[in-house]
Amino acid sequence: MPVSRLTACGWKFFYKHMKKDTSFSDLKDLTRTELAAFLLADGKERYRADQIVRWLYRQRVNDIAAMTNLSRVCREWLETVAVVGQLSLAARETAVDGTEKLLWELDDGQGIESVLIPDGERLTLCISTQVGCRQGCRFCLTARQGFVRSLRVGEIVDQVVQAQNLLAESGRRITNIVFMGMGEPLDNLEAVVRAVEIMKYDDGLAFSSRRITVSTCGLVPQMAELGRRVEVSLAVSLNAADDGIRSRLMPVNRHWPLGELLAACRAWPLKPSRRITFEYILIAGLNDRPEDARRLVGLLAPLKCKVNLIPFNEAPELPCRTPAAATVNAFQERLLASGLMTIVRKSRGAEISAACGQLRGKVRIQETGDRSRDSGDIIQDSGNKLQETDFGR
Ligand code: SF4
Repeated sequence: MPVSRLTACGWKFFYKHMKKDTSFSDLKDLTRTELAAFLLADGKERYRADQIVRWLYRQRVNDIAAMTNLSRVCREWLETVAVVGQLSLAARETAVDGTEKLLWELDDGQGIESVLIPDGERLTLCISTQVGCRQGCRFCLTARQGFVRSLRVGEIVDQVVQAQNLLAESGRRITNIVFMGMGEPLDNLEAVVRAVEIMKYDDGLAFSSRRITVSTCGLVPQMAELGRRVEVSLAVSLNAADDGIRSRLMPVNRHWPLGELLAACRAWPLKPSRRITFEYILIAGLNDRPEDARRLVGLLAPLKCKVNLIPFNEAPELPCRTPAAATVNAFQERLLASGLMTIVRKSRGAEISAACGQLRGKVRIQETGDRSRDSGDIIQDSGNKLQETDFGR
């Protein structure tokens, strides 16, 4: 059983035998219910969990001693059994269009990225769920990194907390969250579900369901479980309307081909005013032909959905090519003419490798004083990701 799902009795056992291992007790790894069980197991009051949630996510404090409405005894006890995890900002780059890429260093020295994408009143944060990825999509540079590990709940949630801290001085607030950074969110389902739960607390970060979008390459069984367990908007990285082409681009299609993927989409618990988003990277000569558009219409017409077309942005490491603008427009016109809501996404943050399909994922961290375990510059490859700004509408 995951530590975070322990009951009060389970916590007693865990606490008795393992409490010295602080890697198990980042308060940000725990949902409110789990926090309450953690406290109750040591005879503390249940309402302390609410107080801690407010300190962690509304006040965004990182120091147990600063939680001044907890009793002194409670604070002193907490300091002996728990920590408040905090991501360390290793690099921050801003593009001329305002897109910002944030590189975080984790406790074990691994790096992950988040991307802030401003768009009028909207400020979307794209967050990571894994270090690397095991899905192997051909158009993605994260795939080239291989899979290193999944993130803990606290490491997912803290991307939002720390990004909001960075924004505080400018008075800006994150309005939308997209799970579309490094990694496949549904390959880390348990942590993603609990991170979403935490992000929704009214007395904390207070994101509504419609402002949180989880994207998947198509892990069909996990899609069903996600829909059962938490209310979020769904995005599907589709990229082909034909099994042969999709299997070449995305190995996941060999396990769950289009028929099964679209059946899972039809079964998705969609609210009346919502749509599923399908992302479609247009790659010259591969999936941008008139027959591809016709097939796509055939697949998606029965669904309440919208399509985001993303012209591939070339990277030296990848064999794919960008289609001509006229081809992109013609593809969009065919979809629109068939009644599919279709948007062509513009690239954002190109010069900092944060644009749609262009993220080369190379962030150069300048070496500073105490980061002595690194012998030189770190080159962090974080993927050819898609950055979206209109999720959760
Ligand atoms: S596109 Fe997403 S699922 Fe595919 S390899 Fe990249 S990070 Fe993984």
